[in-house]
Amino acid sequence: MTPVDRESPICPEFFPEFIIGIEPPANRTEKALWFIFRGREVLLKLNKNPGAIPKLLDFGELGLSGIREQYLGTLEGTHCYSIELPEDAQAPEGMKFADLRQAYAEMGENCFALVNKAVQIMEWDRTNQYCSRCGTKTVQKPGERGKECPDCGELFYPRISPAVIVLIRKGHEILLARSPNFPTGMYGLIAGFVEPGESAEAAVVREIREEVGIKVKDINYFGTQAWPFPNSLMIGFTAEYDSGEIQPDGFEIEDARWFSVENLPDLPGKISIARKLIDHFLKEEGLEV
Ligand SMILES: [Zn+2]
Repeated sequence: MTPVDRESPICPEFFPEFIIGIEPPANRTEKALWFIFRGREVLLKLNKNPGAIPKLLDFGELGLSGIREQYLGTLEGTHCYSIELPEDAQAPEGMKFADLRQAYAEMGENCFALVNKAVQIMEWDRTNQYCSRCGTKTVQKPGERGKECPDCGELFYPRISPAVIVLIRKGHEILLARSPNFPTGMYGLIAGFVEPGESAEAAVVREIREEVGIKVKDINYFGTQAWPFPNSLMIGFTAEYDSGEIQPDGFEIEDARWFSVENLPDLPGKISIARKLIDHFLKEEGLEV
């Protein structure tokens, strides 16, 4: 495999600034960033700096009570925490709860990367309170983002589910497909989870065969994107059409067609790796994107 040339990686400037931490500081003397969740909704500011994460010396200033707390690390030296609230929590004045897609749209990609991290760590904390092997209450594993069972020793780490997504090209056309769950008129790319024991490349070939019944060749790596719906790592590829007629499976894909730049349907949002793959193709076709 050879990486596809492109102008910039998906998240170029964010991650070097964030340092993962497990143990919180003994004393906090400066304001920290608080990623506060009610279910999968995140608390954002409404007034000055709308869409921002609250920055406070202590979470208690908001008058809310949390169920669980995890320390995340530091963003340019600022401590970051995730907090889980009860389901009936109300947003303090000047703030709102936003679902993740809305937050994604409001914050932009780089800032959202930390919300993505925070929500997944919160959910890992919530769903691993007890050992799934023997039912004993788990304890935090010192120095690691992990929990262990004090009785049987089973370990529980945050789960990341790899999924592949692929842009298939046939000359000056690309294959775009519709899931029944998509908004009316929108088409996207073929995607699916990697199965146990399977390479990402094999998953590309299998998903394409299962969903639209064609064969591809020249599979190339494009890039990855962490996707918190619920805990995916999307691995992007490009591929060339080889043979076969498009036959949507009628289940995950209700319609799939070849599209040229002249007749594109509604496309996924700019922030998704699907759109980055499509925009990469459009640029290659000489379009401004
Ligand atoms: Zn156990």
